[in-house]
Order: sequence, then C-alpha cells, then structure tokens
Amino acid sequence: MKIAVSACLLGAKVRFDAGHKHDHFITDELGEFAEFVSFCPEHLAYGTPRPSIRLVKNEETLQVHSNKNGNDLTEALIQKSAEELSHLEEEPLCGIIFKSKSPSCGLKSAKIYLENGFCEGKEDGVFASMCRERYPLLPMEEEGRLEDPWLRENFVMQVFAYDRFEKLKAAIPTLNDLVQFHTAHKFLLQAKDEQLYRELGNIVANRSGLSFEALLGQYELGFKTAISRKSSIKHTRNVLDHLAGFFKKELTKSEKKSLHDQISDYANKIIPLIVPLSTIQLYARKYDTKYLLEQTFLEPYPKTLALRSNVKSGK
Ligand code: SF4
Repeated sequence: MKIAVSACLLGAKVRFDAGHKHDHFITDELGEFAEFVSFCPEHLAYGTPRPSIRLVKNEETLQVHSNKNGNDLTEALIQKSAEELSHLEEEPLCGIIFKSKSPSCGLKSAKIYLENGFCEGKEDGVFASMCRERYPLLPMEEEGRLEDPWLRENFVMQVFAYDRFEKLKAAIPTLNDLVQFHTAHKFLLQAKDEQLYRELGNIVANRSGLSFEALLGQYELGFKTAISRKSSIKHTRNVLDHLAGFFKKELTKSEKKSLHDQISDYANKIIPLIVPLSTIQLYARKYDTKYLLEQTFLEPYPKTLALRSNVKSGK
C-alpha cells in the first residue's frame, strides 16, 4: 500500500529553515504497513534553506509572496507542484498525508493574507489544492488532524478500505467477486453511511442491466464516497446491536446482558470500541458465524495499530 506524504513529515530536512517535522505515528506505526512516496514542492521550487513564503489574495487570484522581500514567487511553485503531481500520478496511491498550515501542503489550513497584511482565512495550499482537484476521492489528511484519535481511526480505516477496493479492481473482478466484496463490507459501510450502503446494494443487484464496467464504476464512486464519511458512535452502536443479534439463540440471558452492557458502556464513552468488538469476535469464533468472521468491520486494518483501544476514537 502506498501513501504519499509531505517529505518534512518523514524526517527530511527540507523545510525553509532546513529543519524537519518528523511524525513518528506516520513513519513508525503506519510505516509498518505502508510504503511512502515523499514530495516537497517548495524544496524543488526554491531550494533549502529558503525564505519563508505566504499566500496573498490579489483581487481574485492567489499569489505566493516571499516573507523576506514580498517578491512574487508564484510561478515557480505552481510549476514545481505540477511536477510533483506528475510524480505522484506514477504511483498507485491509497492516500496522502500533508503537513498542516503550509502554504504548499496545508489542507484548508494555509493562511491567506490580504495585500495589507491582514489574514483573511484559511485555504488549501498550492500543492494540496492541485491534489484535491486531481484526486477527489483519495483519502487525504494532515498530520495535525491525525493527532485526534477519532480522525486518525477514520483516516486509517478509509485508507485500508480504499486499498482493498483498488486490489479488487486490479484483480479484474467478476460480478460475483464484487458481490462478495460488498457483503464483506456490509457493517463497515453501515457504520459510515446507511443510505449509501443501501444504494451500493442496489448497484450490485444490477436491476437495470448495466454492463459490468459501468456497474463497477458506479460502485467505486459510491464505495469511495461512503468510506470518506466519518463514523459516529450512534451509527457504530446500531451496528454493534445488529451484530449482537446474531447470537440471540446461542447466548444465555446473562451473556446477552453482559454484551449489551458493553455496547452501552461504549456508547457512553466509558470503554473503547475494542471491548464489545472482541466479545462479538469471540462469539463469532465460538459459534462459527462465518458471515460475521468475514466482515471487515471486525478488523478493518491491522490490529496492532490498536486505534479502537482508545475511548476517544469514538465521537
Ligand atoms: S510542508 Fe510541504 S513544502 Fe513545506 S517543507 Fe514540508 S513537504 Fe516541503
């Protein structure tokens, strides 16, 4: 799995002051499972070290100005950003992680200044904006937002789901493969967006007799949109209740009560999601409930990332 990452987050000394912003979650934890493709448009455009830059709104256009002397440096950054984008286009990416607040890499966090020096709000940096336009469905986040356990869990889940879909597509699937893929993602999709989950089910049922190519295209759009939605405790709780219902004949009254208590404690942010999920997984194994064991919702990414062990990963 390949993820593009701002080079300074990987520890490269490419910032304007020749420093870096090494992010250990990215390199040490995600790096166990992903290969990184680094980019740094400013290093290409101006070299390192370099004067810092800012984005300045000039009538309706955005310009890049040097903080040192106010020179207009727009053209070089646009040109080198386009080159970096072509470099990314050669890679089968499953996500991009940007450095926050940067005039090049910030995702809605790059400050925009007026000519009089006042700050007028925040926007995408020059390179981030090009990436967003080129890859509207690709998972994208900033390292700053990934410090929030809820956003981190959602992003990692999205990246791994995106990767599974890309692998399915690369394997030249049949309709049957797509149905199986959809079935395995049932509860993950429901936790994201119930309506899109149903729409995807209708696409797979193909009542309008589309060609498989057209159908796969429609499914891809819906699937990638659904996995970009953030999970909520409310939706996740509904899914957990549904999963618990699979064992209503097998469990004793007190086992049912314990499981429902765990689900309530999760919904009340007393215990993390991993607790009721582990119990459900245990029962699924004990009673050989294959349908559940095949659900990606139970293990949407490698468990060693342990993101569902944090009570704050639910909102
Ligand atoms: S934020 Fe982007 S442009 Fe700035 S140093 Fe990091 S990678 Fe380079």
